[in-house]
Amino acid sequence: MKNTLYISATLRIFAEHKAEVEVEGNTVREALCDLREQYPECEKIFEENGSTKPFVSIFVNDRRVHNDADLKEGDRILLLPVIAGGAPGVISDERRKAVTLDDKEIERYNKHLMLRDIGVKGQKRIKAAKVLVIGLGSLGTPVVQYLAAGVGTLGIADFDEVSLGNLQSQVIHMTKDVNRPKTASARDKIKAINPNVRIEAINERITAHNIAGIIDGYDVIVDCTDNYQSRYLINDACVLCKKPLVFGAMYQFEGQVSVFDVQNGSPCFRCQFPAPPPAGLVPTCSAGGTISPLSGIIGSIQANEVLKLLIGGGETLTGRLLFMDTWNFRTSVLNICKDENCPVCGKSPSITEITEFDYEDFCGLKPCEEENSVETIEPAELKARMDSGEPLTIIDIREPHERAIRRFPNAVVIPIGQLVRRQKELDPDIDTVFICTEGKRSILAINTLRDGGYTGRMLSLSGGVNAAKELFFANEKA
Ligand SMILES: [Zn+2]
Repeated sequence: MKNTLYISATLRIFAEHKAEVEVEGNTVREALCDLREQYPECEKIFEENGSTKPFVSIFVNDRRVHNDADLKEGDRILLLPVIAGGAPGVISDERRKAVTLDDKEIERYNKHLMLRDIGVKGQKRIKAAKVLVIGLGSLGTPVVQYLAAGVGTLGIADFDEVSLGNLQSQVIHMTKDVNRPKTASARDKIKAINPNVRIEAINERITAHNIAGIIDGYDVIVDCTDNYQSRYLINDACVLCKKPLVFGAMYQFEGQVSVFDVQNGSPCFRCQFPAPPPAGLVPTCSAGGTISPLSGIIGSIQANEVLKLLIGGGETLTGRLLFMDTWNFRTSVLNICKDENCPVCGKSPSITEITEFDYEDFCGLKPCEEENSVETIEPAELKARMDSGEPLTIIDIREPHERAIRRFPNAVVIPIGQLVRRQKELDPDIDTVFICTEGKRSILAINTLRDGGYTGRMLSLSGGVNAAKELFFANEKA
């Protein structure tokens, strides 16, 4: 029977640089025999008795097996060398040899040069590299600070400006940088840390139309974004453009880091998380909050993974996902599997071009017909109607910790999960306005209540409390 055999990057020199070959056999041993017949150079990784040499592990459908394991039609065989530090870096020897370190750089990078696993060769690989960091928020800022320690070219992409609320965790930006573009603020700080770093600032939103052009030419991409739409877009682009991706994410006290390097047989983000949650159901880190040092912890781990990919050493989080709960302090490193049916990196992918895919629709950002019929009310109109004394019910569906930041005047608090049960508290003859933090969960609340049979007129406060704060809370003192 025919099976697909994936070959880990370090072993590909023995198989004409192929990542994937078709092999025939009823057992692993027979399949590997077929491999050796097709690629005689592969003999070097086999013992005389036909078993693989001890430094090579065999996985079938992501489970480690021995040479005599049976195979079924369609099994996925992976040859993986288990030597620490054996993985080649993404920077070739030719590129490494093309750069030099001057005396100042030797002094600047001396802590790396002392490390046997990095040394001059490793530091030159870092200098020869081009790394793109997408997002200069909580995760991106620690990432660029550490990558400033020697990465030759650093791409920094963000279309946002620095706000006061960013400063607590985005430690690269200073109070004086508020209202400046994040790329400008970050560029100044990176230059101040290390003037040798070449910076390519990309002050625009990453979209399905421009992403391929933006990531082209970079060796490693670092996803430091804070929304589902960008994450799926970046993942798919990295799979299709064959770029290793260092993923980092956080929410409140928890963080995740992984390396998706599909070129080298690893699963992708979509293998692990095939679809995002419906819009508004799960808050993003910007809406859900995070404890400030978590940015430094997760971002620093991402930077560490980037350096290992560039140098070619250690064991990266490729095929594994680090999960960290810093509130209860628990960490786990989970093995993650490739999904054969993955729409972007699986056997018969449905996503073959970045432009073909409607990310807004996929991520639930485009209003569906039902949501279109949700009426919204602008903060100014709500204020005018409240000031006029018109009867109006205002329902605050925010979480208690969100309400503690700003209490909305004259609002009744009903958590979203209790709305249907407590709908008798609403008067169908009076307009009801729903408020949340960003104006997304209030739409979900209205749809939930409508499904629950409520017939009165319902309005969603456009942009939520965030959009209404200047009008309603202008004179407030914390
Ligand atoms: Zn995948």
